[in-house]
Amino acid sequence: MPDHILSGIKAMVAIELKRKGMLQREIAEYLKMDRSVVSHYIHGRYPSEKVMRVSEEIVNLPVEYSIKIINSLSDDKELTKRIIENIYNNPHIEIDRKKCILCGECLECKYNAVFRDSKNIPSVDNSRCVLCGECLNICSVNAITILTK
Ligand code: SF4
Ligand code: SF4
Repeated sequence: MPDHILSGIKAMVAIELKRKGMLQREIAEYLKMDRSVVSHYIHGRYPSEKVMRVSEEIVNLPVEYSIKIINSLSDDKELTKRIIENIYNNPHIEIDRKKCILCGECLECKYNAVFRDSKNIPSVDNSRCVLCGECLNICSVNAITILTK
């Protein structure tokens, strides 16, 4: 079932990318899919109606919930980041310095996306961040959020 749901979400993203002018072959490469599958989606032959309903429910959740579900559907973090970036408008992780108690837990980010800035306060390098959402769970004072704009 997780693979089907991932396919449903990819179908939604593929259609959006096509609308933006990307070529079928480019979409296939970008979403790591077979070109013929992309062609199916673009011509309206989606995964089942039930799969598309669940996929839509997931992408309509607040971003902090949906990124965790999307990440649970695939271990390929490059792919999940691409999907998330195409569903939401400029998603990025931010740390609220006023709330941060400097516990250092978020510095354990396994993608090395969190570093100490010149004032020794944790900060996020969003170019390294894969939007896995793990730091959102780790921070005990809710100083870490994912923003879209
Ligand atoms: S986990 Fe939260 S409180 Fe701890 S250093 Fe990171 S942002 Fe600050
Ligand atoms: S979302 Fe994941 S990759 Fe990004 S900073 Fe948080 S733990 Fe690191």
